[in-house]
Amino acid sequence: MTQEELFKNIISHCKEYGFVFPSSEIYDGLGAVYDYGPFGVELKNNIREYWWKSMVQMNDNIVGLDASIFMHPTVWKASGHVDAFSDPLIDNKDSKKRYRADVLIEEHISKIEAKIEKEVEKAKKRFENFDETMFRSTNPRVVENQKKIDEINARFKNALEKNDLVEVKQIIIDCEIVCPVSGTRNWTDVRQFNLMFSTQMGSVSEDSNIIYLRPETAQGIFVNFLNVQRSARMKIPFGIAQTGKAFRNEIVARQFLFRMKEFEQMEMQFFVRPGEEMQWYNTWKEKRIKWHHAMGFGTEKYRFHDHIKLAHYANAACDIEFMFPFGFKEIEGIHSRTDFDLSSHEKHSGKKLQYFDSELNKSYVPYVIETSIGLDRMFLAVLASAFEIEKLDSANAEGEGNERTVLRIPPALAPVKVAVFPLIKKDGLPEKAMEIFNNLKQICRCYYEEKDTIGKRYRRQDAIGTPFCITVDHESLKDNCVTLRHRDSMKQERIPIDKIASIVEEKVSLRNLLSKS
Ligand code: ATP
Repeated sequence: MTQEELFKNIISHCKEYGFVFPSSEIYDGLGAVYDYGPFGVELKNNIREYWWKSMVQMNDNIVGLDASIFMHPTVWKASGHVDAFSDPLIDNKDSKKRYRADVLIEEHISKIEAKIEKEVEKAKKRFENFDETMFRSTNPRVVENQKKIDEINARFKNALEKNDLVEVKQIIIDCEIVCPVSGTRNWTDVRQFNLMFSTQMGSVSEDSNIIYLRPETAQGIFVNFLNVQRSARMKIPFGIAQTGKAFRNEIVARQFLFRMKEFEQMEMQFFVRPGEEMQWYNTWKEKRIKWHHAMGFGTEKYRFHDHIKLAHYANAACDIEFMFPFGFKEIEGIHSRTDFDLSSHEKHSGKKLQYFDSELNKSYVPYVIETSIGLDRMFLAVLASAFEIEKLDSANAEGEGNERTVLRIPPALAPVKVAVFPLIKKDGLPEKAMEIFNNLKQICRCYYEEKDTIGKRYRRQDAIGTPFCITVDHESLKDNCVTLRHRDSMKQERIPIDKIASIVEEKVSLRNLLSKS
């Protein structure tokens, strides 16, 4: 299956099995807005809980916050979003499609990178004692392509730094980038487009005031910095964590949950002494990559990418990129935001946002390290890693054909943890199964089903990623044991009914992830 087919399969699987639906679908949908279905909402809640617990429960110097979406409009002036939160857009005159100029250039670079990697892979297979570093620095095709990448990156960085949109367009022309729809290079000029949604607050028009739907959750943390520090008696270094909706008027092209107009962020701002920010920046880089690795999808699926142009507030910044079906893309940002936000809010509000450090016996505006991850992008990353169409030999087929679609979601994150089935719908088996189900649902999300063959029921649970199925048969009434079937190995074992809860609880506990992260 190509990566493109995989992506298409995931999108249709999400709809068919109640993970994600297009918004307002009966009205033909709304671009880049999605609704989470019965199993999607469970998975999303579990990912959020994993993040929240790893931040707030596992770190005794991090506390939570839930700030409003609406904020005083001056917040967005102070944060720089009114003046600088924009994307460089370009239109193709033939297809009338609009693109982000930076994305067109980055995708072009990715294509050249892919050529290099292909060359390296080919050589790896050909030579026995392959010296990759040597190969990368001497092979003429690799060297030439790397030179191209470096040149484009340097020009692009320079253009962004000078906000030179004419040069950005020139790079697109010089790289001979074509519109994927029309195939032509008939481009408009590049211009900046602010991403914030605005609305009005106040019922009388003269009183009405433009306010914005927050484009990030971070500012709710900054404006509450002193409220939280004082009320929770926090001492620097400490963090404030928050999850919640953010809104951006993104220009998108078929990227599903990766780029939405309404999405959810999980952000943590960590307040430190000025001068100590680099040490904490590195600490949080390490902690966050460990959090990702703990899910077990493979460390090779993640990489760090340093920003080539730092945002106006940052003195260091990188992304954690994940290998999505459409390539390595940002899943989380880690930014050293200096004292920009707090200082700017001091200036605009006229209120002091300083911390008195009793050890140093002085007050200062703290520096901030931010970790910011998109919950929806995480959701997509989990699905993309977990989704598999597995070929089965007849011994393993469970009487249901030689293929199954299985979501190998880490048990702690799975939407449903256990499904309970009576083998047949009579002879007292449903009653016994129901008794087990009613008991288990007090500890985790369970599912009860008695329709269809056991094989079909297993398949349905595989498709939503349920790690365990329990089947009650006639023997169960005599020996008080049931069959426990494991999703990944499809192995079955006989276990006593009174042990089910402890076995399942141990396997689906978030502890399994938190202890590794
Ligand atoms: P990109 O460069 O992909 O637009 P960004 O650098 O603007 O992302 P940040 O402002 O750093 O993103 O936001 C932090 C995180 O929020 C991102 O790493 C991503 O996971 C998530 N995120 C940002 N924009 C979106 C979106 N439109 N849809 C879904 N998630 C998003």
